Amino acid sequence: MKEKISIQWFRQDLRLLDNPSLQRAAQYGHILPIYILDDANAGEYALGGASRWWLHHSLTALQRSLQGNLSVYQGNPADVLKNIMMRFDVASVCWNRCYEPWRIQRDTRIKQSLEKRGILVHTCNGSLLWEPWNIHKDDGTHYKVFTPFYRKGCLNANAPRIPLPKPKDVHYISDSQRQRISSLNLLPKKRWDKKLDSHWNNRHGSVGEIGAHQRFKIFVDQGLDRYKDGRNLPSKHYVSRLSPHLHFGEISPHQLWHTVRNIGHDENIDHFCSELGWREFSYSQLYYHPDLPRRNLQTKFDAFPWIENTKYLRAWERGKTGVPMVDAGMRELWQTGYMHNRMRMIVGSFLVKNLRLHWHHGERWFWDTLVEADLASNSASWQWIAGCGADAAPYFRIFNPVTQGLKFDADGHYVRRYVPEISKLPNQYLFNPWEAPQAILKQSRLNLGSTYPKPITDLKDSRKMALEAFHSLR
Ligand code: FAD
Repeated sequence: MKEKISIQWFRQDLRLLDNPSLQRAAQYGHILPIYILDDANAGEYALGGASRWWLHHSLTALQRSLQGNLSVYQGNPADVLKNIMMRFDVASVCWNRCYEPWRIQRDTRIKQSLEKRGILVHTCNGSLLWEPWNIHKDDGTHYKVFTPFYRKGCLNANAPRIPLPKPKDVHYISDSQRQRISSLNLLPKKRWDKKLDSHWNNRHGSVGEIGAHQRFKIFVDQGLDRYKDGRNLPSKHYVSRLSPHLHFGEISPHQLWHTVRNIGHDENIDHFCSELGWREFSYSQLYYHPDLPRRNLQTKFDAFPWIENTKYLRAWERGKTGVPMVDAGMRELWQTGYMHNRMRMIVGSFLVKNLRLHWHHGERWFWDTLVEADLASNSASWQWIAGCGADAAPYFRIFNPVTQGLKFDADGHYVRRYVPEISKLPNQYLFNPWEAPQAILKQSRLNLGSTYPKPITDLKDSRKMALEAFHSLR
């Protein structure tokens, strides 16, 4: 007789520690740990190129932690599970919940069909501090503004659960019909990923659960006590850079929350926790507005006079707009699959306000190029930047990339790292080379329009036109 087993279906929880679903599966003794690459149901939200690169390495790390017992597949999970059940005597299937609308629909169907076949299904919360449906106003409606969402809603709700240990005495088994991770073809054919590799796999950490904890420890030791103000400085190491680890669930927000809370309460720790709160707020928005990635939350923006201009878009994507802060941010993204939050706001504002291109273009480009492209945080943040989201930055708040540079990259380290062709400019003209006198340009070996582009738009004029476009909505 076949031994009864339990399936642990890994998804965005690629870790062994603090994994509630894995703990649940462990109660059955024999576990078949699986991962299914599901592009079929994801449709237009199939993982982008940079996320696929991360996933490849994250699955490889998980495979090591599971001593080679992770079984991976590609296809429609309903079919994959059916197929597994023909070969194993499955008592239960366990997973941690995901919140993307397409995944909610898919998982609901799968759960119903498994239960109809008499298989127990256990779903758990592995990735959010608070379930979206548990945080609401007294009248039962959801919060639309961050501060009350976080302060009144989250902080007054039950405290996030204490992180769980690794399950003990588990016997992992594998499926002889599984695929190899390499057969998922997650790595790019044209190997543009070398820089990503050296950026993420080094002495500061690496892709996977162990590397996530290493990066977190370095942040706690060296960044946390400067976080509140330091988080605005793109050349410094005062932010955690944990977003891809969190997105793929290599580390849980509960582990972060309790580790920093156990250190104490000060403005840096509180601020770090409130940023985790923004992540929760993004998920809440996606949960209550499944069309968040496509539709303006503020419908008056449906009439906004966006411009279509492929030349502008390509220049922005490639970091060749001629505006150094924007180009530096976009090149950081291309080279590392990550961009500092301050830079995301600057490049985002430039795209949707100075260039007046639809925020969908930005959302799509980030989706393909961020290693941590996350449907909730990416869509909510682009709506925030464009001014059309919940609790969004007002449209008239237009970031000036020159003053932002002077304020947040005063020594010019960040811009010089990513835009080396202008690195010889003195700080005074580093953020606005078009204003430098000819003699300075010559001294700096800079030929505007040849060695570095002239700005594709005039910052003042485009700002004025953006404001006029916004006022036309009234
Ligand atoms: P830290 O400052 O160390 O913060 C710790 C964690 O808190 C982050 O890892 C993240 O999980 C969360 N967090 C911090 N700020 C935010 C925020 N504003 N919104 C939501 N969560 C936050 N974040 C993603 O994880 N995926 C995305 O696809 C994504 N797209 C974005 C697009 C735009 C246009 C903008 C402006 C922001 C986007 N963000 C996204 C949010 C934020 O920029 C990143 O989470 C953050 O920069 C990650 O760096 P970090 O880990 O060093 O953050």
